[in-house]
Amino acid sequence: MRAADISDQLSTVLVTEEEIQRKLAELAARVDADYAGKDLLLVGVLKGAVMVMADFARSLQSDITMDWMAVSSYGAGTKSSGVVQIRKDLDTDLHGKHVLIVEDIIDSGLTLSWLLENFASRGAESIEVLALLRKPEAAKVKIDCKYVGFDIPNEFVVGYGLDYAERYRNLRDVAVLAPHVYA
Ligand code: 5GP
Ligand code: MG
Ligand code: MG
Repeated sequence: MRAADISDQLSTVLVTEEEIQRKLAELAARVDADYAGKDLLLVGVLKGAVMVMADFARSLQSDITMDWMAVSSYGAGTKSSGVVQIRKDLDTDLHGKHVLIVEDIIDSGLTLSWLLENFASRGAESIEVLALLRKPEAAKVKIDCKYVGFDIPNEFVVGYGLDYAERYRNLRDVAVLAPHVYA
């Protein structure tokens, strides 16, 4: 059974469920304060950001709206291709909206830099980024990310929404995938 041997497929737990929840509550308090009196639209980037969005949005006190975008830049591998494809577009008109993009992880930054440009051209009033994880050593382009959960080493991680070939998204912690899984 797959579920029984998951621990053999992980090397180190980098961020625990408790650390994630504590950090999201902190970030939510900042976002509540920063957007007081403004209409805030959270845009989650599918599929990796599903868990972050669910927990972060419920930590907010503010009245917000939510939308989703699906892009792909990875396929089943572990390296960014730099090629971004829209799989599902937003349902919301961004004109006059204060947009906060909710992401699981900033790796090369290529996906977000593309998304930021794309959103800017749709007339948003403001655009900021929240990312649970960031790999500073992997950055290929500089992303101005206002709300960052954790800076992590340049290793391929899974869990809490992050997958390898669509698996491991349901893990509660963020862990390094054991190299033998994809070697
Ligand atoms: P970037 O364009 O910044 O390189 O990353 C694009 C997307 O690739 C991220 O939003 C995330 O979905 C995926 N990604 C980047 N690094 C990792 C990683 O370490 N693990 C997993 N599972 N996905 C990653
Ligand atoms: Mg993502
Ligand atoms: Mg993925």
